[in-house]
Amino acid sequence: MRSVSRSGSSSAASGRMDVPLVNCPHCRVPVIRITSKKKETYGEVFFKCPNNVKDDPTTCGWIRSEQQYVHALAKAADEVREEVRHGDVNSKLKVELSDMKLQMEEFKHQFDSAVTEIWKMKVQMAELKHQLSVRHDSALVCAICVSLLVGFVVSKMM
Ligand SMILES: [Zn+2]
Repeated sequence: MRSVSRSGSSSAASGRMDVPLVNCPHCRVPVIRITSKKKETYGEVFFKCPNNVKDDPTTCGWIRSEQQYVHALAKAADEVREEVRHGDVNSKLKVELSDMKLQMEEFKHQFDSAVTEIWKMKVQMAELKHQLSVRHDSALVCAICVSLLVGFVVSKMM
């Protein structure tokens, strides 16, 4: 479906924006924009590697039609955008996660110290209780024993 008289539409297409020049994927040098002087593609814009020497197959053969080039650029731009978006989300998430982790650690630290405090208090309480209960307990046990005995005796007597 390629129309032969494409020169008009092609110049209109090329005039709409300045196409950035990317590096040749093989030579890592900026490609150049050329306008075809060939009869069959006369006036059409191509992008090619500057190392490409016409009719020399030993030189870098990288060349794209404007359509291919713009399409590839748009695709690459989309991929970059996508990557940036994902990267943004990832880094944002990472920041949020690390923030959360920090908060958690702080909380855990506070919690740990609180637990330690409570634990210390508990130990002190237990020690205090133990000191008290050595006598108290025996007294209590005695009291219970006595009351049980008394109850037992009373119930027997009734
Ligand atoms: Zn090249």
